[in-house]
Amino acid sequence: MSAKIVVAGAGHGGIAAAALLARKGYDVTLVEQHEEAALGYDWRDCIQLYCFEETGLEPPPESELEPLYNLAYFNPRKTVCIPPRRERSSVSMFIERKYLVRHLLRLAGESGVRLRFSCRAESAVMNGTRVVGLKTADGVLPCDLLIDAAGMDSPVRRSLPDSCGIQREISRSDTLYTYRALFEDTGESADMPIYCAYFYHCGNKGFNWVFRDGTYIDVLVGSVGGITPQIVENALSDFRADHPYLGQNLLRGGAYSKIPLRRTLPQFVCDGYAAIGDSAVMIEPLSGSGLTMSIRSAAYLCSAVEAAKTFSRAELWAYEEAYFRRSLHTILHDDALKDVMMQMGEKNMDAMFEKKVITTKELNGGKQTASDMWHKAIGVLTTPSVAPALLRMVRRGRIEPRVIRSLPHEYDAARVAEWQRAYVRY
Ligand SMILES: Cc1cc2nc3c(=O)[nH]c(=O)nc-3n(C[C@H](O)[C@H](O)[C@H](O)COP(=O)(O)OP(=O)(O)OC[C@H]3O[C@@H](n4cnc5c(N)ncnc54)[C@H](O)[C@@H]3O)c2cc1C
Repeated sequence: MSAKIVVAGAGHGGIAAAALLARKGYDVTLVEQHEEAALGYDWRDCIQLYCFEETGLEPPPESELEPLYNLAYFNPRKTVCIPPRRERSSVSMFIERKYLVRHLLRLAGESGVRLRFSCRAESAVMNGTRVVGLKTADGVLPCDLLIDAAGMDSPVRRSLPDSCGIQREISRSDTLYTYRALFEDTGESADMPIYCAYFYHCGNKGFNWVFRDGTYIDVLVGSVGGITPQIVENALSDFRADHPYLGQNLLRGGAYSKIPLRRTLPQFVCDGYAAIGDSAVMIEPLSGSGLTMSIRSAAYLCSAVEAAKTFSRAELWAYEEAYFRRSLHTILHDDALKDVMMQMGEKNMDAMFEKKVITTKELNGGKQTASDMWHKAIGVLTTPSVAPALLRMVRRGRIEPRVIRSLPHEYDAARVAEWQRAYVRY
């Protein structure tokens, strides 16, 4: 008899894993709290299509994809604009979120996954330290493996006892609170890049943007630790002064939501349980990419499940290992850069842009020259208040290779625990 797998939540990685596992003959049920029509945000987001290649799942058709332009970055007081190195992204595409979820659900349904909508997952069902089922509002679903794809606030992850070793809460300071809306384009002209991104916009710790994409003016207000309607209003009125094409009429979106802004949880599996996507915080802490990372991870999870007999923590280590082996360098690098940008504060950030310490090469990549390094040294030496944040980043840069090297290939409880301590301390 094939093993029973239950997926809690129609998170992107969870749907992808459900489809792959059903194709391998597992008995898979996916439980989602909302109706199918309500799933997915009312806007487009960027995705890197290689995640479909890596999983072997059929990608969305080209007709559903649109080109993505690269960002121009502004410092808080808007005295410096760092333009993109190339106008269009060569790796990422825009896709409607509702379409993407529908596409994945269609693949899952066609692969034999039982899809149960309007059914709320409540908690994991435990037998000692092992997860043996999912408690839903409609009753208990027993299973051999529970895949948690219920997002960053997953009630399933939150219900796990300490003995599972998985962090339950994502703190407010590790969360970007967002408002996203598509407004009418007034048609007015202004000499601004197509996609403009702002750090500490209007004095608020976070990241905002205005995109003029031909149909809508796409606005994101992202604020670390919390957001209020006043923060959104301030950002919109400042944007309207610089981007006169940003109209008053809200056409789509207009929703508040959240993005985890920290490195992936140090452990996201235990006996009978594996988290995927935002429930495990599978994102790059600066650039995001949660969609790509969660869909890509479905392939790692599927391989580990196929090789497993009892879905124990030791067997599921192959999933964690494959995920970290592939993503660790980017996660650590992004996390260090995010921390330095958050800690330095508005005034230091202005100084770093104006003194060419933060340049297109930090934000878009590129080889540093001797002249670049000279500007950076002078910039830092003449801004002593930025030193603590930068020194921490240098220290982290020095230990990064050690954290990557010490990731155990095979499961060994003591070595995995030691690696986790190094990863958490980083
Ligand atoms: C404004 C904004 C812009 C973003 N832009 C991008 C971008 O451009 N590119 C990118 O890659 N990522 C982007 N992200 C991040 C991206 O949305 C996530 O990283 C990605 O969706 C992965 O999360 P997930 O699929 O695991 O979980 P989610 O998308 O949160 O899905 C979780 C699912 O679980 C369901 N669920 C939750 N609780 C329960 C329950 N109790 N019972 C049953 N079901 C439940 C939910 O209804 C939902 O369907 C953006 C996020 C925001 C907020």
